[in-house]
Amino acid sequence: MHELSLIQSIIDIVREERVKHGMERVVRVRVVNGALSGAVSDALAFGWECLTQEGELKGVALDIVDQPLKVACGSCGLEFVPEDRHCMPCPACEEILGHDILSGKELYIDEIEADTPED
Ligand SMILES: [Zn+2]
Repeated sequence: MHELSLIQSIIDIVREERVKHGMERVVRVRVVNGALSGAVSDALAFGWECLTQEGELKGVALDIVDQPLKVACGSCGLEFVPEDRHCMPCPACEEILGHDILSGKELYIDEIEADTPED
């Protein structure tokens, strides 16, 4: 499963960040998953559950934010969110081809929330 290896690299990054920032305990990790990232959010959630049953990230919550596809029209430049990712007529000029993808391809860690003692 593709998502399992993605989750494994996310876990590696979280571990590194935790050490780098001296976080006591990680409580929540937020990941942004673009509509075109190729990863299925449900599968990511499942992979996280599998790979965090043991170890230092046990019980850490994973929030997955689905990032919609956003494009800029290749003809008039209007930015819009297409309803269908296969056929994307521009709402202004109805151009279908040549749009630039502005967002929706990404998959990244947005935030790592840690339980830091208040001082
Ligand atoms: Zn247009």
